Amino acid sequence: MPMQRGLLFPATAFCLAAFAFASAMAQKTPIQITADLTDAPRKLYHAEIDLPVHAGPLTLTTPEWIPGAHMPAGPAEDITGVVFTVNGKPLPWRRDDVDLYSFHLTIPEGVTMLHAHLDCIVTARVSQKIAVLEWEKLLIYPAHIPVREIPIQPSLKVPAGWGVGTALTPLGAGPYPVPAAGSITHFAATNVEQLEDSPIIAGEYFHEYALAPTITPRHYLDVVSDQPEDSKLRPAFLAEVGNLVREADALYASHHYNVYHFLLTLSDVAGGEGLEHGQSSDNGVGEKGFADPVHQLADADLLSHEFTHSWNGKYRRPVGLYQPDFATPQQGAMLWVYEGMTEYLGNVLAARSGLKTQEQYRDVLAFTAATLDYRPGRDWRPTEDTAVAASILRGRNQAWANWRRGQDYYFEGEL
Ligand SMILES: [Zn+2]
Repeated sequence: MPMQRGLLFPATAFCLAAFAFASAMAQKTPIQITADLTDAPRKLYHAEIDLPVHAGPLTLTTPEWIPGAHMPAGPAEDITGVVFTVNGKPLPWRRDDVDLYSFHLTIPEGVTMLHAHLDCIVTARVSQKIAVLEWEKLLIYPAHIPVREIPIQPSLKVPAGWGVGTALTPLGAGPYPVPAAGSITHFAATNVEQLEDSPIIAGEYFHEYALAPTITPRHYLDVVSDQPEDSKLRPAFLAEVGNLVREADALYASHHYNVYHFLLTLSDVAGGEGLEHGQSSDNGVGEKGFADPVHQLADADLLSHEFTHSWNGKYRRPVGLYQPDFATPQQGAMLWVYEGMTEYLGNVLAARSGLKTQEQYRDVLAFTAATLDYRPGRDWRPTEDTAVAASILRGRNQAWANWRRGQDYYFEGEL
């Protein structure tokens, strides 16, 4: 994830034992989930979910600690319209009194399938023409089981005429990535961990660009925008992103994925973003963010930073930052590697690819070093502590930022 912008780094700041028993209970039949984004212009997503169940008490949960966010950023307060049914009849539920992300139910005798309907109120990454789905907004699944052991088969419905970008594997030879009006796109079964790691962008003005055709596996840039002209990306920019794929191939000399999709929104409404995933990244800039080299400078290492996270952060991750479910808190001590090294490699790749010039990169480093020289909070607080405390520093009060320190593990890590 890129660092949230603050006053101090304005231009280039980038920056998210019981199991042994539970594993044996891991289910074999996939959960079926259909995400319905047709109400996206009203800032509302819907899901219809069928969960295989047994008779007796059942605890379902929604994600809390979101990978890449490094904090309990799950959208529990936005998950609404929750209705459970068995054989078409409503089933009562009660939220856990302490773990507010969890729901308790009692499954009647003889019942093997539970239906859940839920909505998510979406306050960002959505506009009249754009929808981004990070799947934690619509996920509910059995608690206390490693999420990689819960199979799930996703499907998707989008507004008529909207294109779809994702690293998920579509089933059949349908019209993907622009589904027929009213149709549902089905994707190959995966597990809850991987689905949460496989976002979707959809939009009316959708383009998919194939990158660096000589590189295997294949890489794509999928873009949606509020204005039709913005998603017709400049050839020079596309060439630089192609260079990024080739430079990463030369630098890392390995690929752990079958396909990679840069997902990009261009919007002054949907908000900015930079969220890493294993086979894709969720990137958001203003509607003219990559329209010319001057605008591009502010976000020149966004794509290279999030792409680098596929290696440093997803394929390999400091142990405290990986948890077997989304309920267990992440431990941030090694974020100076997870984010700091990514900040460094992302900037190196941006400069090598032409996304920024080498002179601009040197200026960024000089600015960062000069800024840290005037940060008295470094006298009391080690950089590692800014990483340990990441979840209470991100997006919080900026008062006395020089004394408090911020997410300095990005920049001291880079240096
Ligand atoms: Zn990052």
